Amino acid sequence: QPRVFSGVQPTGNLHLGNYLGAIIKFVALQHEHECLYCVVDMHAITVPQDPQELTRTIREVAAAFIASGVDPKKNIIFNQSQVSAHAELAWILNCTARIGWLNRMTQFKEKAGKDRENASVGLYVYPVLMAADILAYKATHVPVGEDQKQHLELARDIAQKFNNDFSASIARHGYGEAFFPQPEPLIQGAATRVMSLRDGSKKMSKSDPSDASRINLTDDADAIAAKVRKAKTDPEPLPSETAGLEARPEAENLVGIYAALGGISKQDVLNDFGGGQFSAFKNALVELAVTKLGPIGAEMKRLVADPGSIDKILGDGAERADAIARPNLAAVKDIVGFVRR
Ligand code: ATP
Ligand code: MG
Repeated sequence: QPRVFSGVQPTGNLHLGNYLGAIIKFVALQHEHECLYCVVDMHAITVPQDPQELTRTIREVAAAFIASGVDPKKNIIFNQSQVSAHAELAWILNCTARIGWLNRMTQFKEKAGKDRENASVGLYVYPVLMAADILAYKATHVPVGEDQKQHLELARDIAQKFNNDFSASIARHGYGEAFFPQPEPLIQGAATRVMSLRDGSKKMSKSDPSDASRINLTDDADAIAAKVRKAKTDPEPLPSETAGLEARPEAENLVGIYAALGGISKQDVLNDFGGGQFSAFKNALVELAVTKLGPIGAEMKRLVADPGSIDKILGDGAERADAIARPNLAAVKDIVGFVRR
């Protein structure tokens, strides 16, 4: 039976990349499947966070889900630290995952930077916690941006190794051939990797120090207009075919953003704007972005003004998430050979 899980870190300003790469799909999937959408606060502290700011951002991410159209009654919206199964399963899976596997993770290399010796151990084992997030619910589908593809592959490897290592015990406990399903990444659409507005070779990120590099979900119309108009481009007009976007990362990025926001293909965008000047296209993009993001940002601000209501939604979500994860964790402990209370 399909089950969707995905998480967003409360690490700063939510941006257009998070929206188009992940949150917009959360909204679409809720109509077909059981979905869990998690504010992954334990991932956030793998790099330093100001505690008061973290508290505020946890609520803001929950507000972003709801403001974007994720129904908190239909879906389970919660924060990771309220459901202890994530941490408990992560420990067991730390003993399944191999150091060699983690050494290949590119996100760790990027986030640790040059001073790798000084990165937290948590940052290093982050992908194992992410595998635990997904597998605690035996989730089958994980909507994420392109940047999370490698971590999803690792989660699949961990699931498979656990199933292999414990195959006899899994069978003995009556779970058949495999305990964990192989979670499938859902990486689809015209903007699976939204790039920085300042540098077409870097992805748009919450942690980028330049605010001009991203469009935040809470940016007002003036800020959106200023950032899009200042966005880096090359001097050529837009091509009329998508093949002409190759080797033009900044142009391709803006066309992809327009397509994803408008729910059309990149070719559709070029049919309308190909051959024309960038300035006209940018004006249309500003208008589209303000129309789509303006109401979301306004609703987010309204929701965070009432933290009590958000905390109630998170608490209710945690209870429902816990009810799914707890029996799965108990089964894992049996399979490993632990003795129950
Ligand atoms: P950080 O810089 O702290 O890692 P982030 O912007 O990468 O923040 P995450 O919370 O790590 O955001 O990711 C949340 C979701 O947003 C993930 O599914 C991720 O793949 C997606 N995502 C993040 N950045 C982009 C992007 N630039 N384009 C498309 N999807 C993205
Ligand atoms: Mg990230």
